[in-house]
Amino acid sequence: MKADLPVREPIILQQFEALGLYDRLRKARTGRELWILHDGPPYANGHIHIGHALNKILKDIVVKSKSMFGYDATFVPGWDCHGLPIEHQVDKDLGEKKGQVSLVEKRQLCRQYAARYIDIQREEFRRLGILGDWSGPYLTMDYDYEATIVRELGRFFATGVVYKGKKPVHWCTSCQTALAEAEVEYADHTSPSIYVKFPLNPGVAERLPPLKGKRPSVVIWTTTPWTLPANLAIAVHPDAPYALVESDGESFIIAKNRLEATVAAAGLKDTRVLGEVPGRQLEGLEAMHPWTERPSKIVLADYVTLDQGTGCVHTAPGHGVEDYETGLKHGLEIYNPVDDAGRFVADLPLFGGLDVWEANPKIIAELERRGLLLAEAQLEHSYPHCWRCKSPTIFRATEQWFISMDEKVLPEEDGGKTSLRAKALAEIKLVTWIPSWGEDRISNMIAYRSDWCISRQRAWGVPIVAFYCRRCGRVLAEQRLADHVATLMERAGADLWYTKEAAELLPPGGTSCPNCGGTDFEKERDILDVWFDSGVSQAAVLAVRPDQRWPADMYLEGSDQHRGWFHSSLLAAVGTRGRAPYRSVLTHGFVVDGDGKKMSKSLGNVVAPQEVIERYGAEILRLWVAAEDYRDDIRISEEILSRLAEGYRRIRNTCRYLLGNLYDFDPAHDALAPEDLHEIDRFILHRLQRLIERVRRAYEGYEFHLIYHGLHNFCAVDLSAFYLDILKDRVYTSAPCSRARRAAQTSMHEILDALVRLMAPVLSFTADEVWQLMPKKGHEPESVHLAEFPPVQPDLLDDALEGRWETLMGVRDEVLKALEAARKAKMIGTSLEAGVELLACPELLTLLTQYEADLPMLFIVSAVRLGSLAGAEAAGKKVEVRVRRAAGQKCPRCWTFSESVGRSARHPEVCARCAAVLEEIGYRG
Ligand SMILES: [Zn+2]
Ligand SMILES: [Zn+2]
Ligand SMILES: [Zn+2]
Repeated sequence: MKADLPVREPIILQQFEALGLYDRLRKARTGRELWILHDGPPYANGHIHIGHALNKILKDIVVKSKSMFGYDATFVPGWDCHGLPIEHQVDKDLGEKKGQVSLVEKRQLCRQYAARYIDIQREEFRRLGILGDWSGPYLTMDYDYEATIVRELGRFFATGVVYKGKKPVHWCTSCQTALAEAEVEYADHTSPSIYVKFPLNPGVAERLPPLKGKRPSVVIWTTTPWTLPANLAIAVHPDAPYALVESDGESFIIAKNRLEATVAAAGLKDTRVLGEVPGRQLEGLEAMHPWTERPSKIVLADYVTLDQGTGCVHTAPGHGVEDYETGLKHGLEIYNPVDDAGRFVADLPLFGGLDVWEANPKIIAELERRGLLLAEAQLEHSYPHCWRCKSPTIFRATEQWFISMDEKVLPEEDGGKTSLRAKALAEIKLVTWIPSWGEDRISNMIAYRSDWCISRQRAWGVPIVAFYCRRCGRVLAEQRLADHVATLMERAGADLWYTKEAAELLPPGGTSCPNCGGTDFEKERDILDVWFDSGVSQAAVLAVRPDQRWPADMYLEGSDQHRGWFHSSLLAAVGTRGRAPYRSVLTHGFVVDGDGKKMSKSLGNVVAPQEVIERYGAEILRLWVAAEDYRDDIRISEEILSRLAEGYRRIRNTCRYLLGNLYDFDPAHDALAPEDLHEIDRFILHRLQRLIERVRRAYEGYEFHLIYHGLHNFCAVDLSAFYLDILKDRVYTSAPCSRARRAAQTSMHEILDALVRLMAPVLSFTADEVWQLMPKKGHEPESVHLAEFPPVQPDLLDDALEGRWETLMGVRDEVLKALEAARKAKMIGTSLEAGVELLACPELLTLLTQYEADLPMLFIVSAVRLGSLAGAEAAGKKVEVRVRRAAGQKCPRCWTFSESVGRSARHPEVCARCAAVLEEIGYRG
């Protein structure tokens, strides 16, 4: 039974395959309570990496353990198929032909691309030993899934939370699409940092007595000069004090707390503070836009902070979320002069047609020319970038589709109405978050997020099924229309939206515009955010498949999904069904290298699961997942893997030893009742029950590292170093059918049977391998994965017995120490060459006397003599060990030294004990 896992595992997988293990398990659990872990779909591009392996193995351990607790724990794997990364790759592969293919052809290429990687990843996941419905996974590009996406959008239409509006969103100018918050990565970026003077309109300063007769400038600070063309206001904090200052013949308004920093940045000389006013006194004043004949109003805003800039905040409602809110509040235009590619519209004065990044220095030069640039520097700061192409993103107001977080339209139980935000926050409280900090994290994200922008301007996705009246432009976004299109898509997929005319997609019987009565419509071109796709998996999978149930018992993903899939699934479910789609959410950390560093190609510290499998086997990867505490970041390194491989060998060798001693044992006939066992057997079986108790509890609490450590310690300490060591004499020297040997086998079988079941969710290959070789009681299933966890057997628990044996083990430790010393002193070789004299205090002596006959076995010595330790209590000593060479001759059969060797007439060569055994088995020499 050599490990050789890389070779052996594929053979075991073939056996699972031949057995139809997943289907067989469904049959075996028919009628049991369902337990649903709903798979978060990985993206269908590239090979799986170590993070995927960690995630799927954790899921597999959870699902298999629930199955072994007796639940009907199904697992339907899924893939996320639409979206920008695949579209990008297809564009790249098309190269120059990119412009020549039609949208539908491109969508088909995307579909093929996704399908190819689904097949690759499916094989890679199976190789890890993940058990699931691999022949019936869910794909977000399946026709019926696409239809569900459209239906769920229709449900949202029906609630009234979906609106179309102009709003600043993260925008990638290179991908030319809006990005969700979760699609934005922050990275260092160098921006110009400029201080700009906005002169107040003439005469305005009369309202600020210290500045009477002067023409002061409000000083703003920005790191995005390209947003200045869209400036419509300057925001100040109502309660902060603002300084009115004079320097070199000019006057300025700057927040008092920012004055010193601004003066330093601008190198202002001879500054004099003429007065001070609270921000609210500035409200309503008008400054001039630096180069456009247009006012820039001073407005109040609570979000203005005083830790950076001047306390006077440049406000462009088309380029920032807070600016946008301020714009709405003060009736400002949501003005955005930047197009999809990141260029200023042609008719913009001075900068029309320029790319925003090119425009930055030109805008600065123009300010300089007009004498309005107070200071200029470079600033390195954290800036949003596109997750896909890594370009810096911009904030830009565009026409987008949104799901409102605050519109009070969702029904409440008491008949009132509530918002998606309020309802989602209430639902979060009803979910079990593992670890518990997940609750705060997702609550904060839901509490402070902006409306959900669900539209994207791309090709590979599911269309937003809405129509526009060609005559008056009125938009039709209705559940009835979405349901009709969804029914058509069930048969033909979402491509239908692009191959059919609007008239063919509207329900028969005619649809007319509620505004103008027009009957000519065009289709919306935007597609849905992919987070909407995966967010409705609860509707497409949990709610419809007969092997599933809504809501799921658990979602299990990396801790970044609080703002990703957990988040979108929550909103998608609460918005349409009023409830969270999961009862519990378990998160894990990320895989890092042995020094705790993030893995990256440039550092060269990436560990590929495929390489680990090739060298150690998937089993070691599985053991790694179980052994590390997944709640933190999880380290992996050569050293960690080889240590685990060592631990694995310990467990495997223990199983092998147990199997080796059970070759002639038929539990149905040969097993003894507990009362017929030796006390030491009952002791180890008591310990086994405690292990079963601990391991079951650890599975229930998802504390898998305790399982590995529990199993490993039991094998290494309780079994190898103690029980099996002591047992050797009994199993090798007793008669094969003797009670002594059958008792040992009964206990070893009990142990192996329990170990193999307890380890099966983690060591799924090895457990099944052992299961196939193990003698079984009656009708056991064909695979350990069809079996259940061992129960704790109360009749095998005996705390009093454990107490006595723990005392004996304490004495044994003392004896082993003394034997080691004697061995070092060359007095003895093996321990059987020793006889031991034990002098014990009265209390201990009573116990030892009771077990006198067992002591040579326990210490693995040839003889033990007991005596009393005089004055023991006074010395605080309980036992003293004296080692001498054993008397008598070595028995060639059991290697014990005994004075009885030679006494038997029939078997003169062996000791009395062995002579009796030879007699029993009818040995005649
Ligand atoms: Zn991009
Ligand atoms: Zn109309
Ligand atoms: Zn013997």
